[in-house]
Amino acid sequence: MKYEGQVCRPPIERSSYILPASVGCAYNGCKFCTLFKHVSCRALPLGQIEDELRRVRDLGGNPRQVFLGDGNAFSLDTDRMMKILSMITQYFPACRKVNMDATVTDISHKTDAELRLLGESGVSHLYIGIESGLDDVLSFMNKEHGVSQAYMEIDRIQSAGMVFNAHIMTGVAGAGRGYENAEALSVFFNRTRPERVINFSMFLHQDAPLYKDFQSGGFVPADEAENLAEARLLLELTDVDSLFYDGLHERLELRVRGTLPSDRDKMLNAYDDAIKAYNAIDPMFAIWPF
Ligand code: SF4
Repeated sequence: MKYEGQVCRPPIERSSYILPASVGCAYNGCKFCTLFKHVSCRALPLGQIEDELRRVRDLGGNPRQVFLGDGNAFSLDTDRMMKILSMITQYFPACRKVNMDATVTDISHKTDAELRLLGESGVSHLYIGIESGLDDVLSFMNKEHGVSQAYMEIDRIQSAGMVFNAHIMTGVAGAGRGYENAEALSVFFNRTRPERVINFSMFLHQDAPLYKDFQSGGFVPADEAENLAEARLLLELTDVDSLFYDGLHERLELRVRGTLPSDRDKMLNAYDDAIKAYNAIDPMFAIWPF
């Protein structure tokens, strides 16, 4: 199969076979995002998906876990999704889980009965771009949802037997608001209890709409030391058993990961060391071009 645009999946899904079911992101409106601005969003033909499943099966592939691409495959309508799930079961009988990215709004477009059907048919982990626990930040970043809507839709998928995983972004609240965002997110996670939290710390690219806000002074980025301190406070305040945290600080080439609560001290120490190191030098910003 010809993969179009950027292949995007959470790092923890590295053992999953990626099956493109759509191209791009049906929303494509978040200010900080550059992932799918250059592709036109559409569902891929079912025949093309089946050809790919057959190709992999004929090569001996029978993965236990599939990750459905692209940016928010959960936006596919339920009939189409059920056909894809059925083909996956037919070609990969060993497959036990089908995971994918979703937005809060995608979930709101499905009924409780549809969510239950998808959960019973193999949809397992949904990765949702929560980003921030602060309503004004979500609104400024042009996210499609507010905090209360996120609570409601996460409750619905969990009631349908699916697992909530979160994407967040330290630095999303801007300079001086890292601690405030960490506190709000910890409240959110202590209530919604995700299984995995992936922190793609803010990396502001010149092609992102947010870059214009940066140039006009409407968005003042936090430096990397503040982003690290935000992540550290989030880990300190989050009290969710067996939560796996993966913090990717691309500009610093730093990665902090582990499971709460057993790895909490190890992760806090890693952040402490990094904060000390970056506080000792001139402020560093994750803004491209450097
Ligand atoms: S929902 Fe995700 S993929 Fe779509 S624009 Fe927002 S961040 Fe990008």
